[in-house]
Amino acid sequence: MFAELHIERGRIRSILPCPTGTIIRNETDTWTFPGCHILPGFVDAHCHLLGLGEMLDAVSLHNATTEIDAVAQIAASLPSSAEGGIVYAMGWNQAIWPSATWPSAASLDALPGTPMVVASRIDGHALWVSSNVLQAANISTTTSDPDGGRILRHADGSPTGVLIDAAMDLVRHVLPAASNDILERRYLAAAHHCAQHGITEVHDMDVAPAWLEPLRSLAESGKLPLRIQSMVRGQHSEWLDAGLLPAGGELLRIAGVKLFADGALGSRGALLSAPYQDEPATSGLAFLCADDIVARATEVLDAGWWVLCIHAIGDAAVTTVLDACERIRELPGGDDIILRLEHAQHMRPADVARCARLRVVASVQPTHSISDASMAEDRLGPDRLGWSYRWRSLLDAGITVCGGSDFPIETASVLRGIDALCRRIPNGHDGSWQAQEIVGRDTAIDIMTRIPHVAADMQYRRGRIELGYDADFVVVDRDLAMCPDSAIADAQIMGTFVAGKATFIRTPV
Ligand SMILES: [Zn+2]
Repeated sequence: MFAELHIERGRIRSILPCPTGTIIRNETDTWTFPGCHILPGFVDAHCHLLGLGEMLDAVSLHNATTEIDAVAQIAASLPSSAEGGIVYAMGWNQAIWPSATWPSAASLDALPGTPMVVASRIDGHALWVSSNVLQAANISTTTSDPDGGRILRHADGSPTGVLIDAAMDLVRHVLPAASNDILERRYLAAAHHCAQHGITEVHDMDVAPAWLEPLRSLAESGKLPLRIQSMVRGQHSEWLDAGLLPAGGELLRIAGVKLFADGALGSRGALLSAPYQDEPATSGLAFLCADDIVARATEVLDAGWWVLCIHAIGDAAVTTVLDACERIRELPGGDDIILRLEHAQHMRPADVARCARLRVVASVQPTHSISDASMAEDRLGPDRLGWSYRWRSLLDAGITVCGGSDFPIETASVLRGIDALCRRIPNGHDGSWQAQEIVGRDTAIDIMTRIPHVAADMQYRRGRIELGYDADFVVVDRDLAMCPDSAIADAQIMGTFVAGKATFIRTPV
């Protein structure tokens, strides 16, 4: 829409018609955007802000075409990437390499200067490390697989250098923790990246208690160009051990707790009710059973948290989480906490109906389907594909569906998310994939702007351009509601505003 908005103390005080574009005035400044449209700010309802900051700092292997190419890209980044003798890299994906085989430590060991290398897979569910990292972490032939994780091994039982899910923690414990200064630098870089994409608020998932100190300091400094809803780490009740409680603030709100019921599809960690088509010996990994989830939810309710987010990708994990939600809804205070199924990626029909009945929010990541379509076909086989990324059927069942990107696993571009919801055209495909799950344009925009506020209990003051609402907007160079489908993804973000202050303005070229 076109409009002239007046902002006072961070809220919308008047809305006037403007025939030529968008004008925004606060107490001190006026911005004029001829021909541009204003929308409520984009919200990413599931992302990893520090992960994005680390990525902006780390060597990107997203474009590596083979293991050899990935090693060459790391070599080209040396020596500056080896801060403190450790190279952090991320984004490799053996599924798109011609060999489709896991990489190994041996290729990293040949790097000049033999730095320690820690390279995270594109989905964040596997680490590829050099031999000196395996040694530092004491991972050898005799090390057994931890619960919920796997150490990939050669025929003689020695580790190959790839660690999956909980096995990654064996390495993380021996790596030096980043200082608060480095954490602040990474958070700020990620927040500015978000502002460039029109994002005014994020739901930051799986936040370790130790990261909140630099976040609080940034939020109070006036430098943070983004609102953050923190969903803190709760898999082992970390928030309880750290003495955390929910806390509301204008820019930083410590809002909820995050749990994991299973792993991810790419690394075959997602818990399925029947074996993987392309590896019939496994059905995935269960991280928490229903009893575990209910026990943690009881602590969450006692402490008064507003939101409980539970990661579930495989259909069996979704069933486990909904079994737990049936019981949580019966607990004291359990009726009105916001329960969220994070990813809700692969759901049996009976669980779709149950999710609606239990008022569990589905927090989906549209761009995952674009990146993962062919991998999902391999993992699941044709018969189960219709249960995957089923946005239209979730909406039709009456489920509240909010959208996110899961960055840095995917791009932070919300426009790409809207494009994926409306077109579902996977990378390398010509047409829509599982087209029956396509979402209408207005709904797609709603999923990426207003609905995430419903999923954080903030809809009473954000997500609409109405009097009294927070002045969080994005200004775009075209009408996203009316432009051709093919023109969504390359729309230009012209300006981003949080509480009536510009956090990003495109400079004219
Ligand atoms: Zn995530």
